[in-house]
Amino acid sequence: MAITRCPVCRKKISTRATRCPHCHEDVSGDDPELASRQRSQQRKKSTAMKMQLALAMTLLVVCIGLILLETAQGKTLPSPWYIGIGLAAVIWYVVTRLRIFLSHR
Ligand SMILES: [Zn+2]
Repeated sequence: MAITRCPVCRKKISTRATRCPHCHEDVSGDDPELASRQRSQQRKKSTAMKMQLALAMTLLVVCIGLILLETAQGKTLPSPWYIGIGLAAVIWYVVTRLRIFLSHR
């Protein structure tokens, strides 16, 4: 018996289940309304992830800009804050990219 996720509440359910035991939603797959809701949810999720990618990218660019600015002002070491936030933005970006990659499989 395989395990899948309920398209509505995202909890783990059996692939054989026709109805989610958690939210009691019909998950048999022949419900056109559910299918369209699923699609719109997936679309929303992918839009949200693209937004996160853009945000992480912006954060990274801002941090690099601030680091370059500090370097231009003659500081040999940029503020650890900028490096930390920049690194966090890189990790955020990579993780979001990975999540998008995994969700498309
Ligand atoms: Zn459910």
